[in-house]
Amino acid sequence: MTGYPTRIDFAAAAEIIREVAGNRMLKAERVPITRASGRVLAEDITSSIALPSFDNSRMDGFAFAHASLSAEGATALRLVGEQFAGRLQAWQVGPGECVRITTGAPLPGGTDTVAIKEDCVEQDGFVRIPAGLSRGADVRRAGEDVPAGVRVLGEGSLLTPARVSLAAALGVASLAVAQRPTVAVFTTGDELVEPGLPLAPGQIYNSNRELLMGLLRAEGLEPTAWPTLPDDPDRMTTVLTDAAAAFDVVITCGGVSAGEKDHLPGLLAAHGRIHFWKVRMKPGMPVLFAEMDRALFLCLPGNPVSVLATFLTLGRDVLDGLQRRREPRSQCKAVLGAPWRKTHERREFLRGWLESAADGRLQVMPNAADASHQLRAAADSNALIVLPEGAREFNAGDVVDVIAC
Ligand code: AMP
Ligand code: MG
Repeated sequence: MTGYPTRIDFAAAAEIIREVAGNRMLKAERVPITRASGRVLAEDITSSIALPSFDNSRMDGFAFAHASLSAEGATALRLVGEQFAGRLQAWQVGPGECVRITTGAPLPGGTDTVAIKEDCVEQDGFVRIPAGLSRGADVRRAGEDVPAGVRVLGEGSLLTPARVSLAAALGVASLAVAQRPTVAVFTTGDELVEPGLPLAPGQIYNSNRELLMGLLRAEGLEPTAWPTLPDDPDRMTTVLTDAAAAFDVVITCGGVSAGEKDHLPGLLAAHGRIHFWKVRMKPGMPVLFAEMDRALFLCLPGNPVSVLATFLTLGRDVLDGLQRRREPRSQCKAVLGAPWRKTHERREFLRGWLESAADGRLQVMPNAADASHQLRAAADSNALIVLPEGAREFNAGDVVDVIAC
């Protein structure tokens, strides 16, 4: 009896992560809008003003009252002034008159229509306005983008540049966002050597550290890489206990399977609390999720492709749960470009190349090198193909879920 779930379905693992991480949601902090991009919003934003906040011109041209135009043909209107973008001038434009106007300039008093500069002819203080303009032509009405007093951004949304820009357009100077999780990254294994140092027989270069650091930085985080841990349970315990007291998330890779040198499950059972160990997925089966002190622990298997697949799926759930990011990560459907046969019943995350075919459909071509140590196939891919539990045979033309990466 282990006391924690093991060999669970992928969906159950994701659910446990969401619940545990959600219960440990990080506090909100207020940041200036200049630093808000990429963060998760921790409040609702309501428009305190309308957008546009006043009627204004959509084009460079001339503004006038539509009633001044002749029903038959072009009309010559007397040019009485200028209204540029900026402060509203005190023009009261009368019948038969017009004002030069630029894009974004407020409509002067007495006007309701704009004629585009290129369509008009200016001569001797008059402007010939073409026939056929409708009332309100080339005018942007107050509130037609956003009325005042409506919710425009919701708590839990990712602050994309366009969303930050919308907040700025509404005059918002600072936003409440979820604190960013602090993340410590550990690689483990007596065989690991850092790039740049000579390799002794039996040793390999540490490639997972850069993989994990890059994946975390792509999430907008500033992870801390610790020196590689040897396969020594006492050293591991000392260092990981230290990290557990200082970080929100500890991500390890390696040492989590069932081998003689895989000390992490025992260590976390003894000093922390394991939420699950082993998920029915390929690659990444031995993944373990636990907590110790203030940190959530995500212990990924050592094989590089397992690291990639488990981070992009379960790892991002940990980060999203802590920041209460509500919008699901984007996943799309694509047509499988070649048949595939699974050798097991687990959910599989296969490397592949996603592109749009000539007929406009998205197509994904699986990479034949599917073993979890085959890093090159991951480097040559731009997508993870999700093959669900149960089914084993997939034909070319079948529609599958795809995570772009
Ligand atoms: P483990 O999960 O520790 O049994 O490791 C599984 C496989 O991944 C072994 O072949 C390890 O040598 C390899 N491995 C573990 N950590 C790393 C790493 N940081 N970089 C590259 N390969 C690794
Ligand atoms: Mg190892």
